[in-house]
Amino acid sequence: MNNFIYLRAADASSAVNLLAANSSRGAAARFLAGGTNLVDLMREGVETTHALVDITRAPLSEIQELPDGGLRIGALVRNSHLAAHRAVRERYSLLSQAILQGASAQIRNVATTGGNIMQRTRCYYFYDIASRCNKRAAGSGCDAMQGFNRIHAILGTSPQCIATHPSDMCVALAALDASVNVTGPLGERSLPFSDVHRLPGDAPEIDTNLQPGELITSIDLPASAAGLSSIYRKVRDRASYAFALVSVAAALKVDNGIIQEVRLALGGVAHKPWRATIAEQLLRGAAPTSESFATAAEAELAPAIPRRGNAFKIELAKRTIAAVLSELTAGEGGGQ
Ligand code: SF4
Repeated sequence: MNNFIYLRAADASSAVNLLAANSSRGAAARFLAGGTNLVDLMREGVETTHALVDITRAPLSEIQELPDGGLRIGALVRNSHLAAHRAVRERYSLLSQAILQGASAQIRNVATTGGNIMQRTRCYYFYDIASRCNKRAAGSGCDAMQGFNRIHAILGTSPQCIATHPSDMCVALAALDASVNVTGPLGERSLPFSDVHRLPGDAPEIDTNLQPGELITSIDLPASAAGLSSIYRKVRDRASYAFALVSVAAALKVDNGIIQEVRLALGGVAHKPWRATIAEQLLRGAAPTSESFATAAEAELAPAIPRRGNAFKIELAKRTIAAVLSELTAGEGGGQ
């Protein structure tokens, strides 16, 4: 591990100021929260920051009711606390389900909501500093393209990178239409969750649309997403402590035999949590039948580009979407 300066911030604005004061072109300081990913990356020599700004003393650990009926989650709320919170379990159970299927209990006790969003890919070649990786070293190449790519992306890929985003929590937040509040050198702003993470394009080294020096302060869950029937289904190689090969977050409402509202997001298939907007469009207003589920899944996966090791994900994603939607609508005659 390289030497670095350790600084501690008392609140969000001092964290932003400390980061700015200790960053220069080509030498950015980093915010430190739970450290469950960043410290690993520093140990492996993948991240080589010269200064850490510890934000864990900042008052960002509250879960608050919003006046419109939504919920605001502080960026430092621990994953385990968030999953167990009564309002989350009762109104946004999709989020609880997703968090509890991520990592281990010990990691969830330390990992924060903001850190979960900012975690980096688990591509093996990204972690191996002897490999070529455009995300770690821009322009160096991508050893995953012709290498072992079982866990890699099938949607939204680029010739530069086929990495996936590893979070379960973020797949649920994408389906729930969450928004992310940030503060930075230019002030505060809010981003729709679907705009937070990027597809790799020509710059896979950039994971998010946050500007340099911006800090996530909270995540808002809208009232409109509360109370929908929902399922988070994660398919993985081991029953625990493994990243998703494919995951599906689904929430919907059926009235009079018609799907009135549906929210669908996929994990393990793209560089960002993948909101399945094509499938949603086909499902909205349709009857909840096996045929409509299969048609929607087929259309969503039509643009998928398989590699040698991950072609199985296309069929796996289609079947998981159909299975989850059938289970969610079983009481409505769904999946018949
Ligand atoms: Fe690096 Fe992306 Fe290629 Fe993995 S897939 S080696 S993260 S460029």
